[in-house]
Amino acid sequence: MPHSSDRIKFWDSPRADAIGADHIEFLKILAQPTWITIKGRDSSRLRTIITLLHGNEPSGLKAMHHYLKSAATPCSNVAFFIASVDAALFPPLLSHRFLPNEKDLNRCFAPPYDDSQGRLAAKLLDLLKAEKPEAVIDIHNTSSHSEPFAVARRDCPEIRKLTSLFTDKLVIITKEMGTVLEQDLLAQPILTVEFGGIMDPKADQLAIEGLERFVSLQQLSEDPMRPLQLLPEPIRLELQEGCSISFASTASAHADVTLPNTLDQLNFARVTGHTTLGWLGNAGMSALKAEDADGTDVLSDLFIDVDGLLVTRTSMTLFMVTTDPHIAKRDCILYLIPASEPDAAAVCT
Ligand SMILES: [Zn+2]
Repeated sequence: MPHSSDRIKFWDSPRADAIGADHIEFLKILAQPTWITIKGRDSSRLRTIITLLHGNEPSGLKAMHHYLKSAATPCSNVAFFIASVDAALFPPLLSHRFLPNEKDLNRCFAPPYDDSQGRLAAKLLDLLKAEKPEAVIDIHNTSSHSEPFAVARRDCPEIRKLTSLFTDKLVIITKEMGTVLEQDLLAQPILTVEFGGIMDPKADQLAIEGLERFVSLQQLSEDPMRPLQLLPEPIRLELQEGCSISFASTASAHADVTLPNTLDQLNFARVTGHTTLGWLGNAGMSALKAEDADGTDVLSDLFIDVDGLLVTRTSMTLFMVTTDPHIAKRDCILYLIPASEPDAAAVCT
């Protein structure tokens, strides 16, 4: 079983004919985590774009390859960091979020940095602290179908302006999970942008357009380009440790929870109270937990078991809904904001 390299390759101003015909050739040429720099018209400033923190999320890689092929000159200096190259190259190509024997890199941005993933995360943070980019964008794809959205640690004018370059939806998550967003030591605004599903051509196109806008705009501090839907401090619906989940069109006899394999069509939808979301097994609601930002379990305030059906008690906005059982088990099934929250899904400018 291969291991991820924690050594970063540095590549200054690659020529368009040196990066391969497509993103697959580009990935093979990179061969390891790589920091690419491009000179801009204003060399006193730097903007940074990170991608492939997850090796199966290619929209950012495709957008970088597209931009480098164009041989355009950005407004400021630009650095591209392509992270989980080893996981992306492990066959089948671009199918592994991280290598099977390793950790999720985007859960390793917190001490101790004592394995290869942790060391790579620490080296990236050292680079960002040393280079002081004026803004950092971290490009991902969602594991299921979704409209694009941004995630940040805090809501402030700089973050709103940056978000509006890419999407009209801003999720604020303060829960500490070891993601790259949590580095408060970094003074610059940093934003994760989820452009859509992993095989969605629309997500690829939005990433290309968003990247070009980010590196071309003279000033990032201009007013937001569009009103934003703000989604603060969502509640995470998770599976309890040791429980099982299935995504299907009918209740699975062996799963503690079965959710429809079309549940992702509810991403960013407002569902009303008394809506059935799935089926519960013998363990009933005890197979689930729903923690708010303070870590309080509010499951029974939000859902009720009606003859084995999982039913909402109140209206709520759902997002980051996955239909991937591995993500649902390891991380989270979905995020939600109940309608009773005063700022829920508020629209702001
Ligand atoms: Zn990701």
